[in-house]
Amino acid sequence: MGHVHIIGGGLAGLSAAIELAPQAQVTIYEAGPACGGRARSFYDRVLETTIDNGNHMLLSANALTFRYLDLTGARGTLKGPGKPIFPWYDLDDGLGWCLRLSKGKIPFWLFNRRARVPGMALKEVFVLNRLMKAGPDQTVAECLDDGEFTRRLLAPFAISALNTDIESGSAALLGTIIKKTLAQGGMACCPWTAKNGLSETFVTPALTYLEKFHARVLLGTRVSSLKTEGGRLVSFMTSDGEIILEAEDSVILAVPAPVAETLLPGLKVPTAFESIVNAHYRLPFTLKAKGSVGEAGFVGLVGGMAEWIFIHDNVLSVTVSAANRYADYSNDSMLDLIWEEITQALNTVIEGVLPLATPASRLIREKRATFAATPEQNRRRPGAATAYGNLALAGDWTDTGLPSTIEGAIQSGLAAVSVLGFRSAFKPS
Ligand SMILES: Cc1cc2nc3c(=O)[nH]c(=O)nc-3n(C[C@H](O)[C@H](O)[C@H](O)COP(=O)(O)OP(=O)(O)OC[C@H]3O[C@@H](n4cnc5c(N)ncnc54)[C@H](O)[C@@H]3O)c2cc1C
Repeated sequence: MGHVHIIGGGLAGLSAAIELAPQAQVTIYEAGPACGGRARSFYDRVLETTIDNGNHMLLSANALTFRYLDLTGARGTLKGPGKPIFPWYDLDDGLGWCLRLSKGKIPFWLFNRRARVPGMALKEVFVLNRLMKAGPDQTVAECLDDGEFTRRLLAPFAISALNTDIESGSAALLGTIIKKTLAQGGMACCPWTAKNGLSETFVTPALTYLEKFHARVLLGTRVSSLKTEGGRLVSFMTSDGEIILEAEDSVILAVPAPVAETLLPGLKVPTAFESIVNAHYRLPFTLKAKGSVGEAGFVGLVGGMAEWIFIHDNVLSVTVSAANRYADYSNDSMLDLIWEEITQALNTVIEGVLPLATPASRLIREKRATFAATPEQNRRRPGAATAYGNLALAGDWTDTGLPSTIEGAIQSGLAAVSVLGFRSAFKPS
């Protein structure tokens, strides 16, 4: 069935390639020096260790992601508590607790003071219903109530899931996440992270799998233009020369939205983006956390700049979502402020004491981490099909029904494969 050329070697492009490799000849053109795009690991000379560009959390509900990991043999590279627990720390009140969801669909956890959000009133959970039924124009803030369930759980969950503040974030996108996770019961909500880095989980095993099918991966190969004629793509230009398409050949464009818009003028794409800041700290010792923080390997924070602290042996990695609001902060001031929050949150749950002074650290700002998940931007997302029969789109910014996530990126790659007429585990409706 011809040769499929995949432009972009992020998770959307890799997902399409994995699906296509047993069915067709595949070539990936990746502009950067490695595949992985916004989910990648690299060796950091300041910290003298390999770190991820950003902490990525998966939930067990991310079915297509787990399928991808099973196909590539990488499920074992994940770590997690194996149960739906989420330790939290409230910086305003100095209170730590652990959300312990019931495994099944019946939410027994709501009736257990040691499992639910401290201070919440039971009637507050009706907010979940409101979010799941939200219309396309509603924002998260319009659906929320005052109360500890919102302040200590829903608001921070919304900011992390959408990477957008609650005042402008889309309630419908959040509602979709709730339907797929919380509403399905605790076993859909078990948290997972990459044990030894994102590349070891999502990239290296995928490339090994592709090699078995003789798929080609061309790194450092940027695509600069596409040529269309008579309703189809006929060629495209790469930094290594022009690729002429045969009648049976097709292309999946799996690049970020602004690049897709340049290559396909007139394409309607999201135009507003949110950043994510990740702060990484190297400790002079391996950190051992006690209780639920030790079990989970992370803790969520309420009331500060940091949202999540992930513990990786002697490295602490912190995520700050919807970080456009901190654009004016210098890297050093953010690193110091976050370190104060870390010491406050962790000192009572670790063996030993963290140093008072900020240790060796590194701050990474991903300026266009995700599209801004607002109702307006959500309407600008195109589907996988294009006006050209042999060209499909993929990327977390296409119309997946999900916010910018690994699951969305992987789903989008599968949708593009289906649109081109190949077998695929996901067919867009
Ligand atoms: C800091 C951070 C934290 C995140 N946390 C989470 C999380 O906890 N959970 C979660 O599910 N998701 C998270 N995400 C989102 C997730 O990383 C993305 O949704 C996903 O990686 C997007 O994949 P993609 O393939 O759609 O796009 P990209 O990763 O952007 O891939 C596009 C690829 O195209 C290449 N390219 C660009 N231009 C060209 C060109 N002209 N020619 C050839 N190649 C080109 C790029 O180099 C890139 O490799 C996070 C993202 C960031 C940045």
